[in-house]
Amino acid sequence: MEKKESALVGKHYLMKQAFGQDELHEREAVCTRTDPPPCMAACPLGIDMRSVCDHAAKGDFSKAAGIIRMSTPFLYTLSGNCSGECENRCTLSRLGDGVRLRALERACAMYGGSGAVSRFMLPKKQKKTAVIGDDLFALACCWELGKKGYEVSWHTSCGSLVEPLLRLGLPEAEAKADLTALQNLRILRKEEKALSIELIEKVSEEADAVCISPDPGLACQKENCFAGQKEESVAGLLASAKRTALLADCFLQGAGTPPEEENRESRLFVTMDGVEGSESLLDPEHVTKEKAAAEAARCIQCQCTECIKGCVYLQHYKRNPRAAIREIYNNLSIVMGNHMANGLINACDECGQCRAACPNGFDYPDVCRIARHTMVETKKMPPSAHEFALLDQQFSNGEAFLARKQPGFEKCRYVFFPGCQASAVSPDTVEAAYRDLSTRLEGGVGLILGCCGAVSEWAAREDLLAEAEERFRSAWEEMGRPTVICACPTCRKIFDRYFEAETVGIWEILLKLGVEPLESRPAAVHDACGARGDKKTQEVVRALARALGCRVTEAPFSGDLSPCCGFGGLVKYANPQMAREKADFAAGRADGMIVTYCMACKDQFARTGAGTRHILELVYGTGDDTVPDLSRRRKNRLKLKQKLLREIWKEDMYMEEMLPVRYAQGAMEEMEDRMILKSDVDAVLRAYEESGAAVFDQEHGWLVTCRRLGNVTFWVKFRKEEDGYLVFGAYSHRMTVE
Ligand code: SF4
Ligand code: SF4
Ligand code: SF4
Repeated sequence: MEKKESALVGKHYLMKQAFGQDELHEREAVCTRTDPPPCMAACPLGIDMRSVCDHAAKGDFSKAAGIIRMSTPFLYTLSGNCSGECENRCTLSRLGDGVRLRALERACAMYGGSGAVSRFMLPKKQKKTAVIGDDLFALACCWELGKKGYEVSWHTSCGSLVEPLLRLGLPEAEAKADLTALQNLRILRKEEKALSIELIEKVSEEADAVCISPDPGLACQKENCFAGQKEESVAGLLASAKRTALLADCFLQGAGTPPEEENRESRLFVTMDGVEGSESLLDPEHVTKEKAAAEAARCIQCQCTECIKGCVYLQHYKRNPRAAIREIYNNLSIVMGNHMANGLINACDECGQCRAACPNGFDYPDVCRIARHTMVETKKMPPSAHEFALLDQQFSNGEAFLARKQPGFEKCRYVFFPGCQASAVSPDTVEAAYRDLSTRLEGGVGLILGCCGAVSEWAAREDLLAEAEERFRSAWEEMGRPTVICACPTCRKIFDRYFEAETVGIWEILLKLGVEPLESRPAAVHDACGARGDKKTQEVVRALARALGCRVTEAPFSGDLSPCCGFGGLVKYANPQMAREKADFAAGRADGMIVTYCMACKDQFARTGAGTRHILELVYGTGDDTVPDLSRRRKNRLKLKQKLLREIWKEDMYMEEMLPVRYAQGAMEEMEDRMILKSDVDAVLRAYEESGAAVFDQEHGWLVTCRRLGNVTFWVKFRKEEDGYLVFGAYSHRMTVE
């Protein structure tokens, strides 16, 4: 991966580019959304028929005609004579009739052709050009060169400007309308008796560059002479004139020869999901305005939205990944000032759904991952984004950490690792699972309660990831390097990525050991981001759900296309509102119960009010709809550890009681929003008890005291009561109070 060196800039700012411009371009090129739709790619003139359809469908044929005239002024000529290469390639022709684009062009001329024609006011160029020919090619060349600012001598045997168009059978009024765009250009008609080689020789001496129509079949080897390509279709001829004039212009400007037209196959990916084949509504012989608008409305406005369809984040920010990576690139290049894309970077779950959905595998989450690393290294990551989650990891791998071998075993064949979310959200399930595994599996089953380090990986904190790895590794080594039974696909992914340990999903084990079937009920399985690309896990979980009596249904965006619940990438902490939107979307895909196999997903869905259970809760009859708050999640982990130590390993664990505190109405909700724990309030009040330092708020009649814990100063509004404290609220700042 190409990375620019970091350097100190000024006194305060570190700058480091995530990657160079070449890599940015390489990454952008993977996305083909800016490729033209098939109709536009097939048109020799590259007319944007998608926009034509868009305007025409709204009945605005003037604007639709304007789109065609951006490519050529010969609207009437084209509409009466085009062979319609685009029509056969229309995406809709895969299912039925393609959009009748030729007839639509005709409608644009009929109902929008009288609209204003844009005139060119380009700076005049000194060099002289000439065009030789009697046909549409010659007229088109005159226009192309004239609009580039050249004076053009048109050598022709035609008696008037309009003659080549009349020869094509165009009514005079329409022919004149097509020539409006040529009126202000410096085009001088020079009538010749005949077009000949001698004429070309003579003209090429007088003019700096000469464009020659392919029609008379004349050629000249002089370097300032450019002969057009013979073409069958009118659109092809107009395109040939465009190219010939471009060659002449490049010659006059001393620029190199422009590359040949590329292959006109579009790489734009368009799915036909939800599109039904239909018949054309337009009779080319009787083109009415209404029918033409209805026909244009059949156009599905081909575009690639595969990555956006299932991603609330991209929809929320109204971005596509290609545009977003440029924004992120620019953002990271800013040394000082605002960093508008920080929110964008931290609101992506890095879940990989878009990458799985993209036909080209555009790797947007990888860019967000790199961007987060760069932000951390250059100290541009706002500490508030991930601090709470990182402290939570520290808590899981500190106070709440537990590693024990099964009693009676020196070494264990397995170790159960439920993951930090399971212990926080559904501790009874963890206990039941461990008791079950250690009873039914042979060879000893150890237990490790802790965090796998995914939190620090998402926060781009390699140092803390290494700490988590080390914590796990020493316990795992001590147990005799057992196979790790994971109850969370993300933990398993982390272990597979960073450890040599063999891992297995608990669902595989339980499917083999057997489970008690429950009452038959419909259930949709929500696939966890950690299982993306892991078909085996996705299938085994469904098999286990069926063994439990579930009639498994598939919600939209299942399997590898499953959306994130909002927890991934620590979005729940960095952007709680976005996490809620994601949970609403993911939970809203199913009508009935949603079965998850990641406890964070279960927790997120329960918050939306959806009926949801973790599959282990179905196995063990544990869990409910309760949504534990942040303080309860911590307490659950500690109490689980205490209970297991006491009941299984016969060890005592001391847990300090908190001060008696009552919370006024709304205070706890406010603390939850601000990610303040009851234990933070407890620590602040204990400090107050020691110092007695507090400020009296006369208006509200309460005391305010503060205490710095780690990097954050917490403030608590309280009143002392006979048997404890009444807390009205709390807030925090990243500041030091001297
Ligand atoms: S559906 Fe519309 S945009 Fe797509 S190819 Fe056909 S005309 Fe073009
Ligand atoms: S949230 Fe997931 S699907 Fe959306 S952009 Fe990020 S990685 Fe892609
Ligand atoms: S899916 Fe998205 S990233 Fe992939 S080509 Fe389409 S628009 Fe581009």
